[in-house]
Amino acid sequence: MRKKLVAGNWKMHKTLTEAKVWLQELLSHTLPSSAEAALMVPFTSLPAAQEVLSGSPVAFGAQDVSAHQEGAYTGEISAKMLADLGCKYTIIGHSERRAYHKEPDLLVAEKAKRLLEANIAPILCVGEPLEVREAGEAVFYTLKQLEGSLQGVNPGSPHNLVIAYEPVWAIGTGKNATPDDAENMHDEIRSWLSSRFGKEYAAGVRILYGGSVKPDNAAALFAQPNIDGGLAGGASLQLESYLLLLGAAR
Ligand code: PEP
Repeated sequence: MRKKLVAGNWKMHKTLTEAKVWLQELLSHTLPSSAEAALMVPFTSLPAAQEVLSGSPVAFGAQDVSAHQEGAYTGEISAKMLADLGCKYTIIGHSERRAYHKEPDLLVAEKAKRLLEANIAPILCVGEPLEVREAGEAVFYTLKQLEGSLQGVNPGSPHNLVIAYEPVWAIGTGKNATPDDAENMHDEIRSWLSSRFGKEYAAGVRILYGGSVKPDNAAALFAQPNIDGGLAGGASLQLESYLLLLGAAR
């Protein structure tokens, strides 16, 4: 049984103080036990997440990590630093980093290795741009990205890896993939994981859908057999909508 995961991606939103208030308010609610809640906050808000969420059932993590272990890499944050702050998950390969920072698959694979060495589960994002979907190449493109981003990566246990299928055309646009289209891609991703890591392993990996997940479409998406929750950007910024997403995951 895979427990559903509703991960919020705050992107470059909220100061340390705003994050602290938001997270304290989250914990003042009774959270559903059917899904795991996790917030991927800016690096600067990780100390607030550690202070407020430690000992609670809500997990947290970062939105990126350095591909290097340590050294002269000005401005970078290592997996060891994230582990020290209590991160359970960390996003890698988000399409915004692939597009704006030209991150290739092999760099994403190095980041996955660094996270796993530090006992942090990568939330690995993959997904096709609009022109690729329109050309009918979405599955081929996404599986190739998955293969490249996991090259040389040995996640050990299925709990150490989360995949997020995030079609680029759906991120921040208000246009989500239909539950059927998303389910079809998730099924393909699970089959690929099965051929790479074995059937039992693949059955334990959570595959999240991301791309304009909102309270009004979440239940239909999360009800699909291979959709194990969501990675939500915009809808994770307001407490009310994030709570509704959590409630939709059962
Ligand atoms: C994301 O940032 O990963 C995302 C899916 O954003 P949004 O939910 O706003 O489309």
